Amino acid sequence: MALDLVLLGPPGSGKGTQAARLTEKYGIPAIASGDILRAQVDAGTPLGRRVRSYLDRGELVPDQLVVDIIRHRLSEPDTEAGFILDGFPRTVPQAQALDAMLAELQRPLDAVLYLEVDRQSLLDRLGQRHRQDDRPEIAEHRIDVFLKQTAPLIGYYRDEGKLRLIDAARPPELVEAAIDDVIRSLVGAGAGPNSRPTGS
Ligand code: ADP
Repeated sequence: MALDLVLLGPPGSGKGTQAARLTEKYGIPAIASGDILRAQVDAGTPLGRRVRSYLDRGELVPDQLVVDIIRHRLSEPDTEAGFILDGFPRTVPQAQALDAMLAELQRPLDAVLYLEVDRQSLLDRLGQRHRQDDRPEIAEHRIDVFLKQTAPLIGYYRDEGKLRLIDAARPPELVEAAIDDVIRSLVGAGAGPNSRPTGS
């Protein structure tokens, strides 16, 4: 069985940090939509030129663009043992598209981990990063975009019985431990990566 996860959370909630740790532990790829989009911008591809202004303004890029990117990425063989989606889905139509593609592959999501962090902690964390879109006014806007366009996914996945709440205002090690607890409960329920980590 594969381990198919989504990390859901506002900008600065630590999705990237936790995705990297999960990749290391379980040997499954982290797929970060923001990283893929930024790489396109940096490479100056036609897609990159199309999405650049959205990223600069802290707006979401159109659903169809990211859905196509993710569909393509999930068709690669390294996702066979599982995957961690970081930053996708971010809207209800994206979540519906993901459900549809995974239904086709007959591999529904195992869990959606919602990393919950209060607004002030997010702003503090983003203030310490140096990404172009972490400038205070853009960071504030990205949090608002999250609340308006992405937060509805909390209810969406709760209704599907997939949502797992993680208190992510704590240090990364404690967040990691909370995620490990959830994964252990999933593996007990029949999900799990093909290759288990050894000796830890
Ligand atoms: P963060 O979670 O810190 O906001 P990301 O790297 O996930 O950072 O996203 C950066 C930007 O990339 C977003 O502000 C948005 O412009 C774009 N983006 C990333 N993922 C998506 C997505 N699933 N749908 C639409 N836009 C996205």
